[in-house]
Amino acid sequence: MKTPIYMDYSATTPCDPRVVQRMLPFFTETFGNSASRSHAFGWTAEAAVDHAREQVAALIGAHPKEILWTSGSTEANNLAIKGVAQMYRQKGNHLITAVTEHKAVLDPMKYLETQGFEVTFLPVNRLGHVDLEQLAFAMTDRTILVSLMAANNEIGTLHPLAKIGALCKQKGVLFHTDATQAPGKIELDVESQHIDLLSLSAHKLYGPKGVGCLYVRRKNPRVRLVSQMDGGGHERGMRSGTLNITGIVGMGEAAAIAKTELHSEVQKLLGLRARLQMRIMNSLPDSVVNGDQDARLPHLTNISFPYVEGESLIMGIKEIAVSSGSACTSASLEPSYVLKGLGLGDELAHSSIRFSLGRFTTEAEVDFAADRVIAEVNRLRAMSPLWEMVQEGIDLSQVKWTSH
Ligand SMILES: *Cc1c(COP(=O)(O)O)cnc(C)c1O
Repeated sequence: MKTPIYMDYSATTPCDPRVVQRMLPFFTETFGNSASRSHAFGWTAEAAVDHAREQVAALIGAHPKEILWTSGSTEANNLAIKGVAQMYRQKGNHLITAVTEHKAVLDPMKYLETQGFEVTFLPVNRLGHVDLEQLAFAMTDRTILVSLMAANNEIGTLHPLAKIGALCKQKGVLFHTDATQAPGKIELDVESQHIDLLSLSAHKLYGPKGVGCLYVRRKNPRVRLVSQMDGGGHERGMRSGTLNITGIVGMGEAAAIAKTELHSEVQKLLGLRARLQMRIMNSLPDSVVNGDQDARLPHLTNISFPYVEGESLIMGIKEIAVSSGSACTSASLEPSYVLKGLGLGDELAHSSIRFSLGRFTTEAEVDFAADRVIAEVNRLRAMSPLWEMVQEGIDLSQVKWTSH
């Protein structure tokens, strides 16, 4: 077995070799600009882009004309949120999201607050769910957009898209979902789930980095956006700039594979995830699985190891590439705002690790990782005075600490 073992598929995925094969000719042979209307180089490129648009549209039940290419989900989220806010400003200035969204949703929302918009950041319960009654209650006749993610990137909790979409439709509010973590893991269908805008990124689904898309509904209702990138008027005027054709071809192929292999892949991932989680939980019974264990992405488990510092644990298991509950804000060692949003104390948030498995994960890797984690947690706990006190039956919540 080759180390380090990659168990951070929610951060990014390797390209599937089939995706790379499809992309290769577009670097050197069919290198035309799809906006060149006067020659075959341009036409060939345009045909490839159109094909990829069909492949991505098919993945989410959309029409190809409803797909806008972007540089990834960060840009797609910015375009959806700021673009809708600016376009519908006359109708209202209120937007709704949740505290556990990705920064690429929260930060555009915070920007809009500086521009005179009002944003409701809904709380979540211990499992990471928003209360749908609270969501309905938050909507007013000034509300123009609800943005709630399909699947959380840290804990895997799935939002009930069809219910949220139906509620938005009933109230006449547009519904955007950041679905970056969802393709190949859960079914996405913009019709039955009543989704008006949806963000995707290729590098989270075995495609290349730096390319993604935004689905923008064309009818019932027709959604309009103010472009955030001005120039040549590409992508129906909503996103100017020469298209990343090589990347787009790769994203199309990645989407087609995600669609055809959804069921077999989910079965495989569920098996591997259960094996990993069961081994760890059986050997380290004081550990806690974070998020909703039923409505959850199939490939991810986020586990807290009380009395162990997540960063120390990660340093101790260098053969396994995982994320900690504090790694997302990279430079700082702040505990994850997602875990704090669930109501976890600093202790649990600081001791959490996200394991995310993928298409190329093997059983042998899972077993190796579980063994290493168990050994390292036991080693760190053996050195922890807190752990020792707990073993002696002392209730830490009753301890009076003195500081000097
Ligand atoms: C990775 C991720 C993003 C950012 O996507 P990029 O394409 O890297 O910009 C946004 N939202 C979620 C939920 C993600 O997991």
